[in-house]
Amino acid sequence: MAIQDIIRRAREENRTVLTEIEAKKILAERGIRCTETRLAANRDDAVRLSERIGYPVVLKISSVDITHKSDAGGVKVNLGDRAAVEQAFDDIMAAARAKFPDADIEGISVQGMARPGIEIIMGMIRDANFGPVVMFGLGGVLVEVLKDVSFRIVPIEKADAEEMTSEIQGRKLLEGYRGQDPADVPCLQEMLVKLSDFVNETPGIEEIDMNPVFAYKDGAVVVDARIILSA
Ligand code: ADP
Ligand code: MG
Repeated sequence: MAIQDIIRRAREENRTVLTEIEAKKILAERGIRCTETRLAANRDDAVRLSERIGYPVVLKISSVDITHKSDAGGVKVNLGDRAAVEQAFDDIMAAARAKFPDADIEGISVQGMARPGIEIIMGMIRDANFGPVVMFGLGGVLVEVLKDVSFRIVPIEKADAEEMTSEIQGRKLLEGYRGQDPADVPCLQEMLVKLSDFVNETPGIEEIDMNPVFAYKDGAVVVDARIILSA
């Protein structure tokens, strides 16, 4: 489905929150690599999709009413076989229904398990004075606490993206830390420019959250994404 079709459908349904599946389709259309993510309506669907994608897989609750999926017991990672997927499907549904009895649940999303990388966050928010700004930072608990992020006003160019990745205090982590692979920083910079171009060319986007992005020695992949449309 094209980007405008996804946005139009959300508008018709009177919602401003896009699902992770919709958000990733849009980002992928704009050349930002995401884990391929599909919707399962029931357990059999989940197993069929898992087998097609290839184990290990990740299952997540899919509901526009549940923003923080893992807080609701809504994320199960590293599922290695059919039995694990079936169990995870039931556990996620039960946990979500218990914690959010009124949530409209469209199903459970299935995606491949991404190999571990350096955790990055990227996004876009609207500043009251400056309008849309793109954000870059290191992900993970430590950085959520330290709020080590850099911002630039949209639109950005390559040079701005280069500043963004070198400005953060934790930049050394991008160079590889204690034997860890370094991050493909040019790839991250390209993603920032693509994000900015998308926001600049698409009216009605209120907020974008890619958290986390896993960065590798070669390339990077968006593992979770959220897009909110303007009211
Ligand atoms: P939340 O809505 O709670 O932010 P996420 O989709 O970010 O849910 O999932 C929570 C965590 O699970 C992520 O921070 C990441 O560590 C892990 N995770 C999610 N999807 C994947 C994936 N496809 N591959 C590997 N790890 C994943
Ligand atoms: Mg997340």
